[in-house]
Amino acid sequence: MTSKVALLGLDYDELVNICEQVGVSSVHAKKIMGEVFRYGGFDLENIPDFPKKLLRWLQNNTDMTLPEVIANQHAADGTQKLLIRMADNKDVESVLIPADGRLTQCISSQVGCAIGCEFCLTATAGLTRNLTTAEMMQQVMTTKQVLGCFPRNIVMMGMGEPLHNYEHVAKFVRMVTHDLGLALSPRRVTISTAGLVPAIYRLLEDNLPCSLAVSLNATTNEIRNQIMPINQKYPLEDLITAMRKYVSIRNKKRILIEYVLLAGINDTMDDAKRLRDIAKDLGSTVNILPFNPFEGSRFTRPSDEVVDMFRNFLNDAGVVAVVRVSKGRDISAACGQLKTEVNQRAATLHKQRSLTL
Ligand code: SAH
Repeated sequence: MTSKVALLGLDYDELVNICEQVGVSSVHAKKIMGEVFRYGGFDLENIPDFPKKLLRWLQNNTDMTLPEVIANQHAADGTQKLLIRMADNKDVESVLIPADGRLTQCISSQVGCAIGCEFCLTATAGLTRNLTTAEMMQQVMTTKQVLGCFPRNIVMMGMGEPLHNYEHVAKFVRMVTHDLGLALSPRRVTISTAGLVPAIYRLLEDNLPCSLAVSLNATTNEIRNQIMPINQKYPLEDLITAMRKYVSIRNKKRILIEYVLLAGINDTMDDAKRLRDIAKDLGSTVNILPFNPFEGSRFTRPSDEVVDMFRNFLNDAGVVAVVRVSKGRDISAACGQLKTEVNQRAATLHKQRSLTL
């Protein structure tokens, strides 16, 4: 491991500071951003008129290594799951989902997760550590390496709770939406949260250029407490108040509600009615995620009939609800199925069985 600062984690202002420190024009900060975000690399030596002393400074003081993709699994539906090895040998997964001619990348924000949602495989690992901004950026760079292009949509829906790693995620969001970065529209960068209420207020205060999705998953405290321990800390009424505030401040911006459908737990007509009321109140669209099962889980996926009934009820009530087609289920790349490091032995067996190394 190197103690040098990762060049990929430096934003434009920091690069300008470096230029000033080295005594060269700040125009070179723009050139570095261009090299990274247009070509996806660090071929600084070949940038025309790039000052030697800046190059040397960067070589001496920054880490320009790109991450190692140790596995790339291809699903039948075109989804790819990349296993990326970080400098300290921790692996994270990042999922590439081609849809409607636009590539969406599902980014991991932590190694593991501390939130402990009962229906989520990543949760069983607990939290190992936060990912840095550079490590999230590395996931994006990996896409360029593997597919030759950058993602056009970013969803912070991989491993981890993005709002539990606020600083690094916020910087990442600012960089991918920056004109000299990936220049993605804030509409195309979505943070998904299990409902960390204070962080939702912070996101608002900071006016973070992104969209918000909330994993509501239940419509009463009784049910939500059972499946999401975070609800004991930030109960539904506080979460909904924060969501209302978000919608009222961020004029015309809506919050996407995610709802994992678990058979016999949160899939009754009463649940659908309460969800309708919440979604209408907030003007939200609903993404229904039929539970993706994994070994050892006590939950089951509702039948297709129940899923359809649930969706149709919401649609008929005037709430836009779509069933999120779980991409990449055959390679365990679907929502809640990312589990690197949960169980090293199981992971190894899994890799031996199905990864294209
Ligand atoms: N921690 C964030 C980001 C994870 S996103 C969050 O909770 O929003 C992953 C999404 O997949 C969340 O909406 C989560 O509720 C959902 N999910 C987790 N496990 C799942 C499973 N086994 N089947 C279907 N969806 C799941």
